Amino acid sequence: MTVSLLGATEIRRLAAELDVTPTKKLGQNFVVDANTVRKIVQAADVQPGERVVEIGPGLGSLTLAILETGASVTAVEIDHRLADRLPRTAVERGVPDGALTVVDADAMRVTELPGDPTVLVANLPYNVSVPVLLHLLETFPQLQRGVVMVQAEVAERLAAKPGSKIYGAPSVKAAWYGPWNLRGTVSRQVFWPVPNVDSLLVGFQRAPEPRGDETERRRTFEIVDAAFNQRRKMLRQALSGLFGGSSAASEALQRAGVEPTARGEDLTVEDYHRIGRVAPRRQDG
Ligand code: SAM
Repeated sequence: MTVSLLGATEIRRLAAELDVTPTKKLGQNFVVDANTVRKIVQAADVQPGERVVEIGPGLGSLTLAILETGASVTAVEIDHRLADRLPRTAVERGVPDGALTVVDADAMRVTELPGDPTVLVANLPYNVSVPVLLHLLETFPQLQRGVVMVQAEVAERLAAKPGSKIYGAPSVKAAWYGPWNLRGTVSRQVFWPVPNVDSLLVGFQRAPEPRGDETERRRTFEIVDAAFNQRRKMLRQALSGLFGGSSAASEALQRAGVEPTARGEDLTVEDYHRIGRVAPRRQDG
């Protein structure tokens, strides 16, 4: 099978045909360089026969590079014009029947993915990259690993370790599902339009066993949000609202083996999980 990738001229021609002007609102920065999409697919180590989900396929540049490996793709696109055109582009570029399924939907709301994909590969819309990632990891336990391109600061935050300035709620929530690491840089010049931020590739590998059940995850994430909402404060203070006072918070922290005077940025995801386990059950929880 030979799939031919899209170059800058073809991307612009497709956009003109569809009367698409890339919008900031949907984070539309299209990759117009075949080497870059191949680099993303290599970083994700996509193998023939694997089932990949791509969020925001746009005009299809990365989609075709994934399909070129012999993997199948389920692509979730919110922009109807792009979702509608993509199957035809795939046929025109030599993709075999059945290898691509397009879902015309908001990735933050999907609850089913046809084809049961196990690998995520995407150039994510930058304004919603973290909520999209967390929604997918939470909703689709079959997703085993992935590589995504996001704004550089977001990639660094996702891969950040405790004690660093950029370690925050997204770092802990992402780590709930498994380890993350940076997988390479991407030049601004490969996009159309050229964005005013840098981009990085970041990858994850899901942990072999879930860290906790859904109730524990929700409580832990509430604690993470409270800790980082007041990240300069000691935890006994930052969590006092959730625990009904700072002495109740101190007591719970001690039971979880965490110093009440520590700050949110010092704790690992395991620490947060232990606090989540001793947190009082909330009525909605
Ligand atoms: N994959 C293409 C590429 O690399 O050229 C396009 C990437 S562009 C950064 C992001 C894409 O995500 C756009 O096609 C945009 O329409 C789509 N998008 C934005 N928000 C979305 C959402 N909530 N759900 C699904 N797709 C979304």
